[in-house]
Amino acid sequence: MSGALERARQAELHRAEWLVQVCVPPVQNGGVVTVGGRVVAAGAFEEVRKECPARVRTFDHGSAALFPALVNCHTHLELSALKGMIPFPQPGFRQWLTLLFELRAAKEPNAATQSLRLGELEAFRNGTGLCGDITNGGAAATSGFQALERRIFLELLGFNLDSIQAALPPDVSIGGTVAVPHSVYSVSAPIIAECKALARARGLPFTIHVCEHLEEIEFLETGTGFCRELLERLGRLEPAWKPPGKTPIEYLEGLGVLDSNTLLVHAVHLTDSDWALAAKRSCTAVFCPRSNQNLGVGRPRMERALSLGLTSCLATDSLASNEDLNLFAEAGHVLDNHPRIVPAKVLEMITLNPARALGYAGEFGCIAPGARSNMLAVQVGAGVDKASLARALIESGRKGAWKWVSNPPGLNWEG
Ligand SMILES: [Zn+2]
Repeated sequence: MSGALERARQAELHRAEWLVQVCVPPVQNGGVVTVGGRVVAAGAFEEVRKECPARVRTFDHGSAALFPALVNCHTHLELSALKGMIPFPQPGFRQWLTLLFELRAAKEPNAATQSLRLGELEAFRNGTGLCGDITNGGAAATSGFQALERRIFLELLGFNLDSIQAALPPDVSIGGTVAVPHSVYSVSAPIIAECKALARARGLPFTIHVCEHLEEIEFLETGTGFCRELLERLGRLEPAWKPPGKTPIEYLEGLGVLDSNTLLVHAVHLTDSDWALAAKRSCTAVFCPRSNQNLGVGRPRMERALSLGLTSCLATDSLASNEDLNLFAEAGHVLDNHPRIVPAKVLEMITLNPARALGYAGEFGCIAPGARSNMLAVQVGAGVDKASLARALIESGRKGAWKWVSNPPGLNWEG
């Protein structure tokens, strides 16, 4: 079969009342042409139809909105077997971490791999096409689950260690992952700086949990409190260590870590000057507001980040700190609790922004030529107009009124 004929055989034309590409304003009566798992044209239906072969397979999604697969910027899929095992809300970070340690200690040796698969299915069933996924080593390889792409971050611990090599878990290599520090209170300054230097040299994103809870702020400022007790209990505190007397953001600035490829995960307790610094360095903020609420650690100032122009993303965090891996539910939480954030911005926070932050610009997070064809058809209902479309999309999404439209060829989602 010739190349042109083969392309024609694979081509699909999708039409819906709304096309929400995210990277450009919504189009009424929109159309998308896909070939072999990629978008080749998107826009007004009558226009894109002209670019199709005569006998293209056509799918009409009625009054739905076509929307890109969601991008979850921060997950720990290897913790997915813990779903439902920790009651929410927890009174604070200390109590939550104690429960997490107990549950993780009781795990089977192969738990991370099985847990990863549970998480991949959960993410996919909630409309996700790409995750920024943290592993402590157990899920550092791709699983072969083709329906979900993972940017794999290999998270290191080691407050009393001084190199990535020393902090790597046994039998784990960096390979195609990105080595990243867990946080400023669990990883030493040399390892944080080395991780960033390596990510920078490879042109890859760098991520760190930062300013998640007040205990972290206290520890860097005075060296006291829960983080100190934890390190002492684990035998990880260097006797000679002195608190820097800085905020975590100032501390990371001092290590040369803040730039446009740095993802600040949680970012609940930044001061005004921290936010100004993060904006000056063009960092990305990754908010997990339901996780923060469930752990009782505070409410992120998303409005502040957005008003300063920081690229901002939403993420679920893990099933040890959230009820599900549903980004539509996370977006709905923002509409309910942060009413000053307009719904169209929230849509960017679950698609376009995290795709860029994870190094997948043009591949995920938008419906445009060259992007992966993973799309959702969200039933926004009749009577929606451009002004109400974004809110309707989030509300329908969190009710589960959507379906997958197109997926990569060779999909094995039960695999
Ligand atoms: Zn996390």
